[in-house]
Amino acid sequence: MAVDNRVATNQAPPLVGHNVVLGDLALVEAVERHASREVVEDLAELGAMAGSEEAREHGMLANQYEPELTPFDRYGNRIDEVRFHPSWHWLMERGVGHGLQAAPWVSDSPHAHVRRAAGFMAWSHTEPGHGCPISMTYAAVPALRVDDAIAKEWVPLLASTAYDFGVRPASEKRGALAGMGMTEKQGGSDVRSNVTEARPTAVESEYTLHGHKWFTSAPMNDVFLVLAQASGGLTCFLVPRVLPDGSRNRLDVVRLKDKLGNRSNASSELEFHGTWAQRLGDEGRGVRTIIEMVAATRLDTVLGSTSLMRRAVSEAAWHVAHRSAFGGVLADKPLMQNVIADLAVETEAATALSIRLAAAVDDTEDPHEAAFRRIALPLSKFWVCKRTPMMVAEALECLGGNGYVEESVMPLLFRESPLNSIWEGSGNVNALDVLRALSREPESLNAWIVEVGKARGEDHRLDRAIEGVLEQLADTSDLELRARRLAGQMAATLQGALLVQHAPAAVADAFCATRLGSEYGGTMGMLPRGVDLRGIVERATPHPA
Ligand SMILES: Cc1cc2nc3c(=O)[nH]c(=O)nc-3n(C[C@H](O)[C@H](O)[C@H](O)COP(=O)(O)OP(=O)(O)OC[C@H]3O[C@@H](n4cnc5c(N)ncnc54)[C@H](O)[C@@H]3O)c2cc1C
Repeated sequence: MAVDNRVATNQAPPLVGHNVVLGDLALVEAVERHASREVVEDLAELGAMAGSEEAREHGMLANQYEPELTPFDRYGNRIDEVRFHPSWHWLMERGVGHGLQAAPWVSDSPHAHVRRAAGFMAWSHTEPGHGCPISMTYAAVPALRVDDAIAKEWVPLLASTAYDFGVRPASEKRGALAGMGMTEKQGGSDVRSNVTEARPTAVESEYTLHGHKWFTSAPMNDVFLVLAQASGGLTCFLVPRVLPDGSRNRLDVVRLKDKLGNRSNASSELEFHGTWAQRLGDEGRGVRTIIEMVAATRLDTVLGSTSLMRRAVSEAAWHVAHRSAFGGVLADKPLMQNVIADLAVETEAATALSIRLAAAVDDTEDPHEAAFRRIALPLSKFWVCKRTPMMVAEALECLGGNGYVEESVMPLLFRESPLNSIWEGSGNVNALDVLRALSREPESLNAWIVEVGKARGEDHRLDRAIEGVLEQLADTSDLELRARRLAGQMAATLQGALLVQHAPAAVADAFCATRLGSEYGGTMGMLPRGVDLRGIVERATPHPA
């Protein structure tokens, strides 16, 4: 019989029409644990939309048609605006509309941050780039609250669920978005090297800025938190795009970065030439002020990486359930089951940790939760973000050659995967921050011990891992050199403790054997014999309605 080349066979259908909240059992269980079933149900509509064909299409288009800088209008006036594809606005409107920006900070719900974290993870399945302005808007609020008047002016707009795009005075907007400018050409991690200068004006708390920023993402946002050197030292400033009198602030967008990934999002180089700024916090306390924003964005790097993992493993599990080779469905091949199960275990661990971290934000009045957050945040940022590129690459390979092709979405996920480990503090910087927390805030170590102690006695590999960390800490020599090893082991042990307490036994067992015990083989797909691979794979496989 002649072969009909117009009809493809043995190809997986697109993964659409599934609910990325309700279909993610690890996420559902974590949200029920740290919030409630009502919160899960509240997110169900968002989950269905995020897994829809329409959302998938908008996610692809927003990346295919990248933002463009428009420095001048048609008459030659300098406008420094960025134009986006309509799909970007479609995504933003829904992300903002579902309260994934600053809404939790003004919510009465005791679980507002868990809800928002789960929603952010789910909605980021659509595409991760537009999460950047949403994250920065979420993160700005705790820093803005250092100044009552500024917070009163801006927080209601940042918390508004109206997406109101465009350069207009705040008084004319139904909602606003925030960004941040810290990184300069000569240094990003070490912001003390900032050279941008802040000169006081005749008006109290008002300055003009002179200098540049080497990276400022989402330059169309309405307001930015910017670091600059005042006479009293490095200081945080509030820089609106439009001045209180309605005229434009001088914010020269020099160019947009040509980035590896994150292509839907605009990341710019800025110059300040007498840019108007309002001091936020005291002179010389810039890092102290903006660190609140940095901490909140660090949470989002963990959530964003977890979302990438979950999307990647969903696509991989879906593909192998529909693709056959060598006489059988790939999902039935023991070695493929081993790979998918290992990817799923990594994702479960990241999910449990992400939602546990978000719960600590809901409960910052509790000293234990505050101390836990202090240590768990850099641990998680280091570990979860670091695991993501390796994990996404492996998921991509599960699709074979199809995974290397843009239409599969896997290249988009892969290009995005290293980013969260770079911005808001690179891997080394976060590992070193763990050491800082341990030395300056010893209660943070106690919080870690209390958390992992909840699972003590449940698994001998976990018990041994806890002892191993404590032994490492007892040796105070060459700590800086060992910071990554320590951070990684503390993070994995914390993940193990969460899984042992809350995940299905097969997931916890596989995790403890390979991440804490001696069975780690160096890459994914080396889970030992005896693990219920089929059960783990089944739990990870999406089931569209
Ligand atoms: C897509 C994208 C968007 C961005 N958006 C923004 C934005 O909106 N606003 C903003 O302010 N910045 C932004 N950044 C910048 C980002 O936050 C910085 O790139 C990051 O903080 C690292 O700073 P750096 O590039 O100057 O690297 P460096 O500080 O030069 O670091 C280079 C390397 O050295 C390591 N390192 C640094 N210090 C130490 C040490 N003491 N010991 C050992 N190793 C060390 C780092 O971990 C890193 O691996 C963005 C970056 C990207 C890629």
